[in-house]
Amino acid sequence: MTATRKPEGYIGDKPLRPESLMSSYGYQPALSEGALKCPIFQTSTFVFKSAEEGKAFFELAYGLRAPREAENIGLIYSRLNNPDLEILEDRLSLWDEAEACAVFESGMAAIATTLFALLAPGDVVLFSEPLYGGTDYFFKHVLERWGVRTVGFPAGASPAEIDALVAARGLAERLRLVFVETPANPTNTLVDIAACAALARRLSTPERRVVVAVDNTFLGPLWQHPLKHGADLVLYSATKYIGGHSDVIAGVCLGSRELMAEVRTMRTFHGTMCGPCTGWLLMRSLETLKLRMTCQMKNARYVADFLADHPKVEKVLYLGHLAETDPQHAVYRRQCLAPGGMVSFRLVGGEVEAFAFLNALKLFKLAVSLGGTESLAEHPASMTHSDVPAAERERLGISENLVRLSIGVEHPEDLNADLAQALAAV
Ligand SMILES: *Cc1c(COP(=O)(O)O)cnc(C)c1O
Repeated sequence: MTATRKPEGYIGDKPLRPESLMSSYGYQPALSEGALKCPIFQTSTFVFKSAEEGKAFFELAYGLRAPREAENIGLIYSRLNNPDLEILEDRLSLWDEAEACAVFESGMAAIATTLFALLAPGDVVLFSEPLYGGTDYFFKHVLERWGVRTVGFPAGASPAEIDALVAARGLAERLRLVFVETPANPTNTLVDIAACAALARRLSTPERRVVVAVDNTFLGPLWQHPLKHGADLVLYSATKYIGGHSDVIAGVCLGSRELMAEVRTMRTFHGTMCGPCTGWLLMRSLETLKLRMTCQMKNARYVADFLADHPKVEKVLYLGHLAETDPQHAVYRRQCLAPGGMVSFRLVGGEVEAFAFLNALKLFKLAVSLGGTESLAEHPASMTHSDVPAAERERLGISENLVRLSIGVEHPEDLNADLAQALAAV
């Protein structure tokens, strides 16, 4: 439960679950001619009732004084705030039980703006590998140019191995941020968020708090809540499950009021907020978020079970199939609420067999991205991860025979029928 939850988020003193609030929370029909649904506030600027009100709004927006009892920042200009964004942010905060949220025009905008808000030249960032390709490029080619050192550790490394890496490279004094993507794409390898948070706390000093940021795009906001495991910030590409219909690009960052104030300030000056139409589309998506993600999660299990039994499949990489003896299983039990909707697998063979399979698919569409209502298939080694050097790909398990599936909301037997006929064509 968050300190900022509004009164309509309760019945009596009982907090309502997020899915019960996604159609109404944070919106007052009386302010919009009684409209049941939140309109699209397609406006760049807002009219002040008086000069005094305008002055008061700016004092709060620019942090010139502390807010008075029950005083909120009023609407000023759509780069700073807009009802479609504010209501969306209130709703998104409920899933991760975050104090504050900011929405962006893309997942990359959320990541880049957040990192520019928190980092300065000379800082060190530790990150799990593999990372989403855009984030990886941003770390190695943009942050490095601004004097930030970025150092990777393999997802699945033990806490002791990560400690040893930090000590051996002499990073401890300058470490400012630990960036985690879990499960890792496309191998579904987990990173232990609590262990990263413990490392960050241990290396923090009163002057330099080490922040843990988790890209939660793959399992959140339904199946993994990083803030509960000690993370400071949660990031999303809302293009994926949150948007869920492959028709919008957007991003999210959530965390404490204090950290988010820095992120929001940087958003104001980078102008990376999303527009009102995007905000409205995402609010519509949130109404079915639990329905979609639950269906995708159930379908993924059917698909993963089918693939695991197929003679042309060498190995299935799926969180629901982790063996009890696998060290990853303990992390999964602690950190994840369900295995989600992403299934990767290695075909018997190499690129030729993988391509034959992909070209034969009928219901699955051959496309990158994920989390939409339709099922998608792609070949990481030659598509999403083609700019990772071959030796690195090998080390991270991104082999030529690996295919990644994003499972949608179709009938699971139709999905398996499509996989069966495509495998038969190999
Ligand atoms: C897609 C994705 C991103 C980037 O998001 P955009 O909305 O495409 O900018 C970042 N992280 C992960 C894990 C992603 O899948």
